[in-house]
Amino acid sequence: MTPLARLLAQRIRETGPITVADYMAECLLHPVHGYYTTRDPFGAAGDFTTAPEISQMFGELLGLALAQAWLDRGSPAPFTLAELGPGRGTLMADLLRATKGVPGFHAAARITLVEASPRLREVQAATLSAYAPRWVERLEDLPEAPLFLVANEFLDALPIRQFQHGPQGWQERLVGLRDEALTFGLSAPLPEVPDTPAFRHAPDAALVEDNLPARLAVAKVSTRIARHGGVAYWIDYGGWRSQGDTLQALRNHAPDDPLAHPGEADLTAHVDFEPLAALAQAFAYDTQGAVLTRLGIDARADRLAQALAGDRLESHRAAHRRLTHPEEMGSLFKVLAITSAGAPPPPGFV
Ligand code: SAH
Repeated sequence: MTPLARLLAQRIRETGPITVADYMAECLLHPVHGYYTTRDPFGAAGDFTTAPEISQMFGELLGLALAQAWLDRGSPAPFTLAELGPGRGTLMADLLRATKGVPGFHAAARITLVEASPRLREVQAATLSAYAPRWVERLEDLPEAPLFLVANEFLDALPIRQFQHGPQGWQERLVGLRDEALTFGLSAPLPEVPDTPAFRHAPDAALVEDNLPARLAVAKVSTRIARHGGVAYWIDYGGWRSQGDTLQALRNHAPDDPLAHPGEADLTAHVDFEPLAALAQAFAYDTQGAVLTRLGIDARADRLAQALAGDRLESHRAAHRRLTHPEEMGSLFKVLAITSAGAPPPPGFV
């Protein structure tokens, strides 16, 4: 049993089973034993790798997309250049390097990061020391100003609740104890469930997930953009409408039982983009492969390849393929871009 599993078992004995969202929140962000609180999980030494860690091209192209969107909207100054859940700060560093030549963009940008993990805030401060970023605790604290925002693999880390449909109606999936081990169970039947399309259209016996923190985050960003203008790119794995149980644990680059090692495995769920898009005045949605291709990843990859040979060329080609190929990250990952009513379309979409 991990130290966090012992604490959770004690809590469940005292006050009863907890929701999947409570379980996920404790596993990821418990102040002492949480997964993100205690470690830097990225890269070969960690449990998983993300698009900005795979290739500099990812942050570069998103940076140029945000800069183009800023130009298309009349270069508002000052504006907030924000990232949610910046990890090691790699995406923001690549974004800033790629946009150095865009006249006025850096001078007008107020770089603002939202990061729950004190450990990762330190890593971000080191990576971005040349740029004087600032951190805000909550999305409500984003300045009242035009907002250009990127969030990669942020929504999938927010705690989901799971609901099971059956003969008795809807019940919530809970984490309880059996023979002193954490186990899944079901609540008593519920009088009501969240009002999103996934619930309204759920077939019999479906398991449906709801990510309320994701809906709140997208709603707050959409409100800022509706009021002051701007664009937000949300990139994550998932799809259009929640489909079954997508709670997954990853430990040492291998799938793990989500209840087996609380605090020592990464826990995520696929993102249902449908109820998130509904919160924006205007949006565009496509696969990561399609968006990166329209943003010019093939030309950028060829350009970088000119300076490479041997193993480094091979791994550069593999990274390009990994980000864009439908059998790798190209189709599973989606991009939701939200913007304001009547604004120019976000770069990277048709
Ligand atoms: N965007 C980075 C990291 C993705 S991992 C990349 O692509 O490499 C998820 C990130 O979100 C981590 O930085 C994690 O600490 C942060 N995070 C998770 N839950 C959060 C929350 N509730 N508030 C703010 N940041 C959070």
